[in-house]
Amino acid sequence: MAKIDLRNLDRHELTELLRSWGEPSYRADQIYNWLYRNLVLSVEEMTNVPVKLRQRLTEETSLSNIYVQERHCSPDINTVKLLFSLADGQAVEGVLLRYRRWFSACLSSQAGCRMGCAFCASTLGGLARNLTVGEMTGEMVLLAREARQLGGEVRSVVLMGTGEPLDNYNNVLKFLAHITEPSGFNLSYRRITLSTCGLIPGIRKLAKEELPLTLAVSLHAPTEELRNNLMPINKVYPLSELIAACYQYAQTTGRRITFEYALLAGVNDSAYQAQQLADLIKGLLCHVNLIPFNPVAESNFRRPETSRVEVFYQVLRQEGISVTVRRELGSDISAACGQLRRRVLKEGASPP
Ligand code: SAH
Repeated sequence: MAKIDLRNLDRHELTELLRSWGEPSYRADQIYNWLYRNLVLSVEEMTNVPVKLRQRLTEETSLSNIYVQERHCSPDINTVKLLFSLADGQAVEGVLLRYRRWFSACLSSQAGCRMGCAFCASTLGGLARNLTVGEMTGEMVLLAREARQLGGEVRSVVLMGTGEPLDNYNNVLKFLAHITEPSGFNLSYRRITLSTCGLIPGIRKLAKEELPLTLAVSLHAPTEELRNNLMPINKVYPLSELIAACYQYAQTTGRRITFEYALLAGVNDSAYQAQQLADLIKGLLCHVNLIPFNPVAESNFRRPETSRVEVFYQVLRQEGISVTVRRELGSDISAACGQLRRRVLKEGASPP
């Protein structure tokens, strides 16, 4: 019989499982507390749970079988990248980014990705599979332990690791509900960012959930033609329709959308293209996050000179658009999406 992954269960489901085993409800409270407040990695550590119940838990349940396979820490300890191995030999990445005294956790939602963006390392081997709720929760636990070791805690989550979150919609939404549970991680939706390459049906569905999270949309190009070349998904959901869906999203939710724009030298980084971008999104409740391209070994794209980034930034500012250049974090430890996973898959490393 397949074991039940405890981290797949939300609080209510955990309580139901223990009830079905004839246990009092406070046992669920205790176990939930061990899992998401104490961040334990095994049932044996739950010392106030009777030995017999621990035995049953060990026999019939598991804890997502996600392990830290590699740990890379930047010299200033502001970025820690973890490579996780999963039960079936898949690998995904998670990153911890320090913001003063608290941390942001960047998580993967899929092993691989099928969106095929030309500049992104995550997509090079295609999609292997969706991550389960338990596996994403496992990433969160392992990153939260790391943060604790560094003297802080995870206060925000960005779904910007490997994968397209809206391509794993149900698991991602359940995972988010799980980590916002007050007696567990107690994260606020306001500190959660979900990043999508622009799956319009998913954006429409998400708008109806009425969650105060931040939706980030990867644009990377101001015209249909260029976006078709960089992001194949544009042939299915074209820029014009995507922008219309963003208008609708902002209107329905009242939330500001973040547009991500990776600057690729000589491809999408001219002042003229900045103007085209401004014209495209002017009037929309939004913020633009410029990301100087993080070089990927397998691609020919390059990062623009700082002066070009500055010009692009200034054009948007002058058009009255809220814009920031993403802080450079972790390029020294291949923190760009999918790069670590890619290297390990290529080298054929096996899980422990
Ligand atoms: N599938 C989601 C999450 C991807 S990762 C999405 O497409 O939004 C988060 C962001 O990093 C995306 O905007 C993605 O396009 C961008 N990105 C991917 N590879 C990059 C690289 N090498 N340098 C800079 N940004 C990159």
